[in-house]
Amino acid sequence: MGEAEVKPKKAGPVQCSICSQRRAALKRPKTLEQICRECFYAVFEEEIHRVIVDNQLFKPGERIAIGASGGKDSTVLAYVLSELNRRHNYGLDLFLLSVDEGITGYRDDSLETVKRNEIQYGLPLKVVSYKDLYGWTMDEIVKMIGLKNNCTFCGVFRRQALDRGAAMLKVDKLATGHNADDIAETVLLNILRGDIARLSRCTSIITGEDGPIPRCKPFKYTYEKEIVMYAYFKRLDYFSTECIYSPNAYRGFAREFIKDLERIRPRAILDIIRSGEKFRISTSAKMPEQGTCERCGYISSQKWCKACVLLEGLNRGLPKLGIGRTRGLNNGLECDTKQSNGVKNIQSKQCGTLDF
Ligand code: SF4
Repeated sequence: MGEAEVKPKKAGPVQCSICSQRRAALKRPKTLEQICRECFYAVFEEEIHRVIVDNQLFKPGERIAIGASGGKDSTVLAYVLSELNRRHNYGLDLFLLSVDEGITGYRDDSLETVKRNEIQYGLPLKVVSYKDLYGWTMDEIVKMIGLKNNCTFCGVFRRQALDRGAAMLKVDKLATGHNADDIAETVLLNILRGDIARLSRCTSIITGEDGPIPRCKPFKYTYEKEIVMYAYFKRLDYFSTECIYSPNAYRGFAREFIKDLERIRPRAILDIIRSGEKFRISTSAKMPEQGTCERCGYISSQKWCKACVLLEGLNRGLPKLGIGRTRGLNNGLECDTKQSNGVKNIQSKQCGTLDF
């Protein structure tokens, strides 16, 4: 995933258009207003607070895990949620939850950042690892399968690992650092692939309410550039290196396309999200019914969950068995990538930031 440019655009020697007292220090990417740092912090945090309140993302007394990768999104989310929780008395118990995929030279370094965040923000940290949960690290998986479908394995395993970690922490909800750019990109990808079923729910601010742990996205309307700017001005401690196994092909082009649109019209990101929300109303595509995996007990619309199918392939030395349009393993098991409309599933964000 490409990172937004860190350097904020310098505003000219003009007054802040919000407070009219201090000099403007930046041009806000979302609105192009010239504002001072203090007003930027205030509007950035207030917008997130409004999203939380208006969408009733949390209830007093809830235990909330923040999916933490050490990247900019989850680091800013942990910082801002802690601040808002104190300032507005949300009454939440916050935790950091990280997944160790076992990627040497990438995740081991980013986890060090999360460990520092644990101390900096005073939030207890839980780390769950692929090695412990599945018996495989991503380094070992890539050694076996190469760099073609690695993110399919990683995305499926991570989704389940987070749910398992959340269950260990006994939290009520998982908050992820998905930002507005991520959501716009997913809308676009689902349109390009004709995945109407996924399109209809990828803009939801809360998902998985019928699953083990609901997930919410407090940054649904927050621009990536503003997150980077906020982290930069606040000097937050985050990790910005990309995963060494990142493929970056189709999704990367969609991301660049959205960045081009944003350059011409900053509102384009919000417009794409709104379009995705409108599509939700008109869809009649049926989602598969949820049951539980016969093997591990995780939610699944098929006999075995996707993680168990992939794991079976790995353990049998036939890793392609669970990939893509494969209808199933030799014993007739069918993986649950296939949706009701027969189109391959697109993860909302298949990259190592844990913001998925
Ligand atoms: Fe996993 Fe993301 Fe790396 Fe792919 S790019 S292997 S999904 S961490």
